[in-house]
Amino acid sequence: MKAQATSRGQRATMIEPIKVGVLGFGGLGQAAARVLAQKQQMRWVAAADHKGYACAAAGLAPDRAIATYQSQGSLGYLQEGTLSHSSIQDLIEQARVDGFFLALPNLPNTFMASVVRQFINSGWQGVLVDAMKRTSAVEQLLEMQADLAAAKITYLTGCGATPGLLTAAAALAAQSYAEILRIEITFGVGIANWEAYRATIREDIAHLPGYDVERARAMTDAEVAALLDQTNGLLALENMEHADDVLLELAGVCPRDRVTVGGVVDTRNPKKPLSTHVKVRGQTFEGKVSTHTFTLGDETSMAANVCGPAFGYLKAGVNLHRRGIYGLLSSAEVMPQFVQ
Ligand code: NAD
Repeated sequence: MKAQATSRGQRATMIEPIKVGVLGFGGLGQAAARVLAQKQQMRWVAAADHKGYACAAAGLAPDRAIATYQSQGSLGYLQEGTLSHSSIQDLIEQARVDGFFLALPNLPNTFMASVVRQFINSGWQGVLVDAMKRTSAVEQLLEMQADLAAAKITYLTGCGATPGLLTAAAALAAQSYAEILRIEITFGVGIANWEAYRATIREDIAHLPGYDVERARAMTDAEVAALLDQTNGLLALENMEHADDVLLELAGVCPRDRVTVGGVVDTRNPKKPLSTHVKVRGQTFEGKVSTHTFTLGDETSMAANVCGPAFGYLKAGVNLHRRGIYGLLSSAEVMPQFVQ
């Protein structure tokens, strides 16, 4: 027979859901709210967008929040909401949250680091999880390691799909080998329209030859649409500056120059243009060279492959935080924990 919790206190700590906030309520933020609605171990209690925020200790209703955001442009119009030009700061001060998923655009490339600085300066304590993509963006956080630890924040970086699920899979697959020769991440993303994921698409455009983050950020929606018209809605990306490399290097798996990331994004079709996978090539202790391949199911969306791991890492982060482990950690160092 399985062990049962006996004391009321024990039962309360097991049952009390983790209170979760989501910063950014675009494509990923809205998907995050939907994912959380199916979880018993987590409760979605707070969110912020560019123009406002909402919080409710009893939980927010995803359908109503999404409908309000899509029709009026901000969560601030909800009954539980407030319109604000300093929505993140206000939410940090007001919401009682165990952990936040940062589903914000990293535009400019220093934006997320500036948000993290806000958390540190505010005296807030808890868990932060991001799905940031660029190596140079993660490097800015590395410099904040000591400040995060002193602030008693447990921060997990690179916890989406790539970096995230695929980086973690690479770190796991590496265990068969004595030396890692090459890690190749290839993603296929299909979305019905680019407007549902504006920041994701702008940040991907920034990797195209002739573009950078500032140029992509400055593009109007009409200019993005015109560029996508020229490519039939497809973005083909090679040798991207993706933080999987620095995260795997820091986790001691291999030097960063052995990690490559590329992929194809179809902005006009939810069907993936190719199967997302990671290939880990290495040499075993017997001298055999081989390749492990981990492939995601084609039916799984980008949103499922980002939000699932993000909350798995948030749960792991909450357990670390409760044990007094603070500072910066990554998807390549910590195993995500499945959220029921
Ligand atoms: P989006 O453009 O759809 O939405 C962004 C949201 O952030 C909006 O709600 C906007 O109002 C809000 N916002 C912007 N500035 C703000 C501010 N100053 N204060 C408060 N809220 C603000 O974004 P998206 O397409 O969902 O992407 C979010 C991030 O996720 C991007 O940085 C993207 O690169 C990243 N991403 C990572 C992965 C991965 O696998 N690691 C995959 C997809 C996307």
